[in-house]
Amino acid sequence: MSSEFKSFFKKVAGNEGDRCHYAIRLDTYGCGCQHNCGYCYARALLDFRKLWNPAQPSIANINRIRHTIRTRLRRGDIVRLGGMTDCFQPLERDNRITQQTIQALNEMRVGYLIVTKSDLVAEPEYLAHLDPELAHVQISLTITDEKTCKRIEPGAPGPGARIKAIERLQEAGIDVQLRLSPFIPELVDLAVINSVRCDKILVEFLRVNSWIRKWLSNLDAEIDLSGYTEHHNGYDHLPLAKKRGLIDSITGFREVSVCEDVEEHQRWWDLHVNANPDDCCNLRGNHAQPKNNMPKIHPVNIPLSRIRLNEGQVDWLPRNPRQWTREQLDRLAESIQETPQLLEARGLIVYPHDGTFVVIGGNMRLAALTMMGAKDAPCYILPEDMDREKVKEIVLKDNGDYGLWNQAMLSRDWADLPLERWGVEAIEVKDYSDKNKEINVGGFNENIVLKLKYNEPQATLVSARLGEDKAGSLLKALGYED
Ligand code: SF4
Repeated sequence: MSSEFKSFFKKVAGNEGDRCHYAIRLDTYGCGCQHNCGYCYARALLDFRKLWNPAQPSIANINRIRHTIRTRLRRGDIVRLGGMTDCFQPLERDNRITQQTIQALNEMRVGYLIVTKSDLVAEPEYLAHLDPELAHVQISLTITDEKTCKRIEPGAPGPGARIKAIERLQEAGIDVQLRLSPFIPELVDLAVINSVRCDKILVEFLRVNSWIRKWLSNLDAEIDLSGYTEHHNGYDHLPLAKKRGLIDSITGFREVSVCEDVEEHQRWWDLHVNANPDDCCNLRGNHAQPKNNMPKIHPVNIPLSRIRLNEGQVDWLPRNPRQWTREQLDRLAESIQETPQLLEARGLIVYPHDGTFVVIGGNMRLAALTMMGAKDAPCYILPEDMDREKVKEIVLKDNGDYGLWNQAMLSRDWADLPLERWGVEAIEVKDYSDKNKEINVGGFNENIVLKLKYNEPQATLVSARLGEDKAGSLLKALGYED
């Protein structure tokens, strides 16, 4: 008889909490996993304390899970299902705790990331419950050979079954990633991986500690660990150059992302490879936002090599309707050099497109940065599923100007600053009071014409001050109306 798994709900903390876009881990089963993989970190942690029971894992109480979902989660949150152990391990077939949890999350419109080594998630009775607006699935593969897999991951479905499940989810329109984790090159046939019909792959490289070293040395497979020479936080890692070579051989996917612990390496992936530099799982980028909730948009630095001017390459988005002269561009470049803080505070607004980022707001700044030889730019990435009309609206609103300079205040309070060099079109305000004339309107016919002469910017200013009802304002000024 399985015991109750009580600590099923955990706030994500540490490195994972800082980086990942899910705030909660929810485990429907715990203290054991029937897949019983030889390299399992959870097993390594719990086994020596005699808390790991792969034959009879503990089972969470669905009523408690429902209560927790109702009281502690909000619409728009994302939880990770299967953070500690696999929530689709075989005992799910009899207990259905994960299935009922998914139903409860659907009801609350809470998003969920499922990480599993099982194909059960793609079987019809589960597929029917996966809501394409809320579900993200990552099916892990470590080994592509069936026999080796049986030895290392004895209780889990084989690679063939998992690949079929990935393809079924992809066909059904569910956000699915092949999770190559841990990536041990000797255990993977990349031709098999590259032929999987799936848009997205997430790679996590193997990190080695003494426990993993011992486990791998007992494995009947030749795995060369001599290249794991970079030491970070208690683990040995491959150098970045070696990892880059391996990632270059992953070619069968539209979107490649790498997730890892070495900060410096992660930065490189974020800048040069990851589809969403802000989130390697790319959950928020794919997550349908609740209608009343604005998506969270975070600033990130993106290399200029991945940013494009809006030249109409997105088929539903017209090209940027602004133009500039070389002189204006020079002035902007000078301004950015003088005040980089302003660029930091108001980054470019970009939209993901075909592995690049098209500028929605800030085309001229991109042109100036390119001219200056800058390497990257702070950007706000709009979600790929953002309403298209909204994106167009941002293009125009970002360029629009709702106000007018108060010329009198400019010339009185700001005149000591280089306004023209800073792109402020100041109109010289002169004192014309010596030209004031009193007009005696008595004796005029009913219709009179007053012609006032202004140059164009002055005319705009006067027009704005008079408001829409110009005739009314003028009559009022002449004392004919209240
Ligand atoms: S499926 Fe995951 S949790 Fe289960 S044994 Fe394997 S590595 Fe551990």
